[in-house]
Amino acid sequence: MAQPIALSKQVHQEAAIDQGLSGFSTKEMVHEILHRLGEDPDRAGLLATPARVEKSMAFLTKGYDENPTGILRGALFDEDYDEMVIVKDIEVFSLCEHHLLPFFGKVHVAYVPKGKVIGLSKIPRLVEVFSRRLQIQERLTRQIADAIQDAIAPQGVGVVIEARHLCMMMRGIEKQHSSTVTSAMLGCFRQKETRLEFLSLVRQQGAGGQ
Ligand SMILES: [Zn+2]
Repeated sequence: MAQPIALSKQVHQEAAIDQGLSGFSTKEMVHEILHRLGEDPDRAGLLATPARVEKSMAFLTKGYDENPTGILRGALFDEDYDEMVIVKDIEVFSLCEHHLLPFFGKVHVAYVPKGKVIGLSKIPRLVEVFSRRLQIQERLTRQIADAIQDAIAPQGVGVVIEARHLCMMMRGIEKQHSSTVTSAMLGCFRQKETRLEFLSLVRQQGAGGQ
């Protein structure tokens, strides 16, 4: 059987595309990649690299094993509050699925409740679960919005992500200081007034600003 990149991932084990490689461990494959890059995988500095890569990739993709619904379930509260709730400047680190290189930045999440609110600490947790998977920024944005929509059916949800992509920066496609902005607006956030209120609160340098 294939050695999965994350030691605990049964599903991924079954999804091994090339059965010809299934007899090799992840460490052996990383060793081979180092060799193909023109390196000597057996020199002192690289000896432990395959094991480190396996471990770090398992960590960076651990979101596959976590259930966003389960995380929110224990932290939903009945509440009459019906003004906008905003959690802004949530740090995000993810891996682009096209190059397996990091993209990173800030996530801003807002919703207008309809009878239920989410424990505030759960929103950064939700961002983490989806970002510890291979992603594209657009899908990550949408998944966060959809998870909140599904959990509490609020009047609306808005999610904005501002991120910088190493796959673009390192290859010179993107200027060093430009960032990519994506947004997902559901329900009342599709109305101009609500959306503008959200975006202006995001831009404010408040207690949560940096
Ligand atoms: Zn990329």
